Amino acid sequence: MSTRGTLYTVSAPSGAGKTSLVKALIESTEAICVSVSHTTRTIRPGETDGVNYHFTDKDTFTQMMTQGAFLESAEVFGNFYGTSQQWVEDTLNSGQDVILEIDWQGAQQVRRLLPDTVGIFILPPSREELHKRLTGRGQDDDSVIDARMQEAISEMTHYVEAQYVVINDDFDQALADFRGIILAQRLTLDNQQRRHEQLLADLLS
Ligand code: GDP
Ligand code: ADP
Ligand code: 5GP
Repeated sequence: MSTRGTLYTVSAPSGAGKTSLVKALIESTEAICVSVSHTTRTIRPGETDGVNYHFTDKDTFTQMMTQGAFLESAEVFGNFYGTSQQWVEDTLNSGQDVILEIDWQGAQQVRRLLPDTVGIFILPPSREELHKRLTGRGQDDDSVIDARMQEAISEMTHYVEAQYVVINDDFDQALADFRGIILAQRLTLDNQQRRHEQLLADLLS
């Protein structure tokens, strides 16, 4: 029987690099995966339904909400986002760690429901760089970028609610920091006791 995985929330202002960091982390780390959220946002060029998000219409989203299908949900930039409760539970119970790439409102809801959740906040190295990355991504028009820059400041005030903070200046360094958090978390006393119950019993008998 595998031990239950750890649940992580990764929050950041839009453009700070959380999607790129999470993708790189998952590709290079064992037994960790990212939850695919449901959203009512329109699909961006290059995105695939079921991979980046489950793209749904507002009626379906509301219906799922009523049915209690979401562990958490929130309205961000006028669109609805939600995390599938069932998928998260099943994946954690299979022994894998799960990352939720969600905004601060969602992270608060998840922490309230599952207090063992580990919060990670990603910050950009400067406001100028954040603006440059949002523009450079080339997927949002100017008014969307302006709105996201405004929102970025209020999102960033919530960094104090996380247990870990990563500054995404040099990408490879930020990735190494991020991976360091996940690996250290796997070595805490609680997790090692659960994972190595038999070994500890043998060693101490
Ligand atoms: P990006 O972060 O700029 O790439 O933009 P996204 O469209 O991917 O995400 C928009 C916002 O919605 C971000 O603040 C995310 O953290 C948040 N978000 C994404 N998925 C979820 C979710 O399942 N639940 C909640 N509460 N927020 C989400
Ligand atoms: P988020 O998911 O937080 O909105 P993304 O991962 O989409 O952010 O990153 C926003 C843009 O910034 C992307 O074009 C990405 O390639 C770029 N980016 C991410 N991290 C870095 C970095 N350390 N240095 C330079 N550009 C970066
Ligand atoms: P984007 O629309 O650019 O992909 O995402 C915008 C914001 O929505 C990001 O900050 C992202 O973290 C957040 N977001 C994406 N999915 C979810 C979700 O399922 N729940 C919550 N609370 N936020 C989400």
